Parts: sequence; structure tokens; C-alpha cells
Amino acid sequence: MTERQSADPELFRADGDAPVLLGSRCDKDAQSFYPRRWTCPICLGPVHDVELSQTGVLYSYAFIHAPMFGKSQLDAEGYGVGQVDLPEGVRVQTTLEGEPASWRIGEKMRLVYSTVETSDDTETVLYSFAPDR
Ligand SMILES: [Zn+2]
Repeated sequence: MTERQSADPELFRADGDAPVLLGSRCDKDAQSFYPRRWTCPICLGPVHDVELSQTGVLYSYAFIHAPMFGKSQLDAEGYGVGQVDLPEGVRVQTTLEGEPASWRIGEKMRLVYSTVETSDDTETVLYSFAPDR
């Protein structure tokens, strides 16, 4: 059986059907943050860890016509990047799955796994967003 592991356990969990982004929240200011912070940047008070929503709305996107950093497939056409607004008020910078024609600003997106590397018993993954249709 292949085990899935997060490429960066400080940023997200990878033990469920979809990635879970790990953020912080300041209750005093009712603000959430991603990635996690040690203190609130508004009041400099304490924050606590929270798990953020797995869906959001596409705010903006671009298609990068170059191989993704670290990818060995140099003939790849490129990759999508975007900003997704989560219900907690957090705007996440992310890669996007699919083709530019499938991305629409204002539409619902969901977190998905993006495989970085696979060995005999371990799949190392990053998170990405894909249209939620
Ligand atoms: Zn605060």
C-alpha cells in the first residue's frame, strides 16, 4: 500500500481525501492567516492553529509558459498559478490543476493533491486547487 505524505507538513496535512491547509487565527481580531504565524500581525497578540476550508473562490490566475521549478519534464507546456479566497478571509497563492480554459474568476475551487514524487511505498504530494464542478 502506498502512503501519502505532505511535502511540507508545516503548511498542510495529507492524510485525508483532500489536503488540509494549516493556518492561524486571532480571535480578538477575528482574522485568519495562511501560512501559520507566531503572533497576530494586527494586535501582536497570540494566535492559535486552525484548519482552513477545503474550497474557495478563484480571485485571479495566470498560466506560466515555463516548466515548473524542480520538474524534470522540460518539455512541459507550463503550469497555472492563482489566488483562491477561502471563506475565512484568507487569500491563498497556489498552483492550479487543469487548463486555463477551465479556470473562471469567481468560480468555486477545491483543494486537490499534486504528486511530486512516487517511490515504492510513498507518494509525496503538494496541494493545488482545481475547479469544483
Ligand atoms: Zn490580533
